[in-house]
Amino acid sequence: MTKIANPANTIDIIKKYDFNFQKKFGQNFLIDTHVLDKICSESGLGKNDLAIEIGPGIGALTQYLAVTAKAVVSVEIDKNLLPILGDTLKDYKNIELINADFLKVDLEKLIDECIQKYGEFDNIRIIANLPYYITTPIIMNVLESHTHIDSITVMIQKEVADRMQAAPGSKNYGALSLAVQYYSDPYVVAFVPQNCFIPRPKVGSSVIRLDIYKDKPIKTVNEKLMFQIIRAGFNQRRKTLVNSLINFEGLQFSKNKIIHALSLLGKSEKIRGEALSLDEFAQLAEYLQE
Ligand code: SAM
Repeated sequence: MTKIANPANTIDIIKKYDFNFQKKFGQNFLIDTHVLDKICSESGLGKNDLAIEIGPGIGALTQYLAVTAKAVVSVEIDKNLLPILGDTLKDYKNIELINADFLKVDLEKLIDECIQKYGEFDNIRIIANLPYYITTPIIMNVLESHTHIDSITVMIQKEVADRMQAAPGSKNYGALSLAVQYYSDPYVVAFVPQNCFIPRPKVGSSVIRLDIYKDKPIKTVNEKLMFQIIRAGFNQRRKTLVNSLINFEGLQFSKNKIIHALSLLGKSEKIRGEALSLDEFAQLAEYLQE
């Protein structure tokens, strides 16, 4: 296939259409074909899968997805990119292009429409070079929607990927690590330097793959309460967990009750949120609810 993404082709396409990069949409286009190969192969995408892409840009990654998967659905917010995509991707008949804000898309409906058109898929995988200004909302919306998605493989800021993968006690460990690890098993697949993009982003990037659990290894009786406790626990990192929980809005536990719940966990009243694992937060929520 003639690759859309290499530096010379990307510049030609941009000139041909007089395209102006929009900073507000986080437009940094990939121009390294090795990185595109890597994203596609590490995502596990197979020939009977559906790929859902957020932000195709000029189609650099979309093309790889189209030759690998049964079908691709790509959601792009910038209407100026639609005529360009219509041209760069014209040879591929298994791509559905949608002009919309991904955060407003009904994902279940999108998938149902693809199943009606293409038949059942073995796996449904989200694969994208994400716009960095909304990385976390996009990923958390998908995870919290409980939509049937098998995996998410995305390029994101390196520091956000590090936070998603972090373990208790590390400086990157926080509410985001716990939220992502509750729903999925994350691992960083590759680091991608700034010179692989046009224009160059200010930050380094990583490709992370999240394999979404069908059966969550951590069970909780009250998911909402557990996440409130997690948010409280990392709201002010220097405070003890007891003090963070007493002062956090929406929670109404007495100091004694919190100390008692921690003692049931075998933890001191001086402990901070960053020392607890996901399993321990789940148990703490259970003890506090009693
Ligand atoms: N996939 C292309 C590539 O790798 O070269 C472009 C990646 S660029 C980092 C992010 C893309 O997401 C841009 O095309 C941008 O216009 C699009 N985008 C930004 N916000 C979006 C949103 N809310 N919904 C859908 N697409 C969005």
